[in-house]
Amino acid sequence: MAGRTPQKFQIPTQLFINGKLVDSHSTERHGLYNPIDETLITDQIQYAVAEDVDAAVAAAQAALQGPWKKFTAAARGDCLLKLAELLLEHKEELAWLDATPIGKPEAFSKMEVDMGVSIFKYYAGWADKYVGESAPAHDGFMKIVRHEPLGVTCGINPWNGPISTMCLKLAPALATGNVMILKPSEKTPFGTIRFAALATEAGIVPPGVIQTLPGDGKTGALLSSHMGIRKISFTGSVATGKRIQQAAAASNLKRVTLELGGKSPSAIFDDCNFENAVFWSTLAITQNTGQACFAASRLYVQESIAGKFIAAFTEAMKKKIEGLGTELGPLADASQLQRVASFFERDAGKTQVLVGGKRHGDKGCFWEPTILFNPDLNAELYREEIFGPVVCVRTFKDEAEFLRLANDSEFGLMAGVFTQDINRAMRLAAELDSGVVGINCVSYINLEAPFGGTKQSGVGREMSHYALRAYTEPKTVLIK
Ligand code: NAD
Repeated sequence: MAGRTPQKFQIPTQLFINGKLVDSHSTERHGLYNPIDETLITDQIQYAVAEDVDAAVAAAQAALQGPWKKFTAAARGDCLLKLAELLLEHKEELAWLDATPIGKPEAFSKMEVDMGVSIFKYYAGWADKYVGESAPAHDGFMKIVRHEPLGVTCGINPWNGPISTMCLKLAPALATGNVMILKPSEKTPFGTIRFAALATEAGIVPPGVIQTLPGDGKTGALLSSHMGIRKISFTGSVATGKRIQQAAAASNLKRVTLELGGKSPSAIFDDCNFENAVFWSTLAITQNTGQACFAASRLYVQESIAGKFIAAFTEAMKKKIEGLGTELGPLADASQLQRVASFFERDAGKTQVLVGGKRHGDKGCFWEPTILFNPDLNAELYREEIFGPVVCVRTFKDEAEFLRLANDSEFGLMAGVFTQDINRAMRLAAELDSGVVGINCVSYINLEAPFGGTKQSGVGREMSHYALRAYTEPKTVLIK
């Protein structure tokens, strides 16, 4: 490994518990390398162990029963607005801290910070508007339904969108009066540690309201099975999501929201707006280097337009190869590169490679944007989430054949339909087994509408007011 990454900002490597940066109870230290040039970022990262998790939970409980309880809903809204300002103020720093360990272009990471700003502002508006309900007393009983916070909640996050996933959990949790312990991915811990420290040091939230416990799966497992935590909101892989749900059930039946993986289908019909379809199909599989849960990685093209579409799509993907290293970053690290490459080793001969299909250069973790044509329907490349810029293309004859292929998957996060026929679009929107369906767009989400998956893509929803439900318990009060 060659040299050290220049430190544009100070890198936080400790835990943030009860308003302070503190050392872990473990003396072990961990390192991260820059996937662009393989330089060492730091080898001093600390992971939270059982004593640290206990300390954070105790501080969270104290904050919940103490100063945080006194915040009115409007005051919590103010807090969220201040957190939005704080993010903006530290955009450069936070974007650099989380982009560097996974080689994400900084411009993309800054867009993620902007998204975080919108998320805090959006939920600031909800804080004093998510009021309860009441039902008439026609039977002699007045019924009031209160939306009560769950208490100590925990956000366990992946590395591909560290800032956006942090904000998507933190904002609705705080808006509804919870406190939150954040467990960022071991690949991207820095921004989450820094943000918790900034928010508390600036006096926006009392100590214990936002805490960060860096660590790997072992720290995550301690949190998922902790008796003092009442909710885990998790974003990550299906396998880990299942472990978390099992740990939650085996401990205190804590509430669980799971945002998991995808292998999202998208259909190109012969009456589509052609340029628009090429644009979205390319963006869908290359944004964040294909490391996006909602990437449309199964593309189905109607036979009558297949030749023309595949030619244009191939050109667009070749241009993306030229953008590697500037517009398009590497895969997150050496293990991701190895993971993507291993699909190709196992499934060699089970597909035709139209573009890419290999590592780019011999330095860094770059993978060429790839189009696979007519992969075997049982190939892992076709059925599993690759989490890289790799799309499988197949042709179909009619709507029925597309639906059969699209729904034949254990995932159900996102689907796309490109057509000018509104009746067909609405028919397919109803029939696709997926949490989100894009018509003439795909791999796009919006804060104002719920986001999440069917089948093994997840449990529950984030975004919009649906997220508020996930952080509250209804309490019914009956008055005679
Ligand atoms: P991962 O499941 O490996 O890790 C996610 C987080 O879980 C990390 O913080 C990790 O330390 C922690 N973890 C690992 N083992 C654990 C355990 N036993 N108990 C508790 N926590 C544990 O996922 P990843 O590789 O970081 O992220 C990629 C995955 O995330 C992909 O599958 C992607 O599709 C998914 N993802 C989903 C969404 C969505 O909103 N649906 C968004 C982004 C990413």
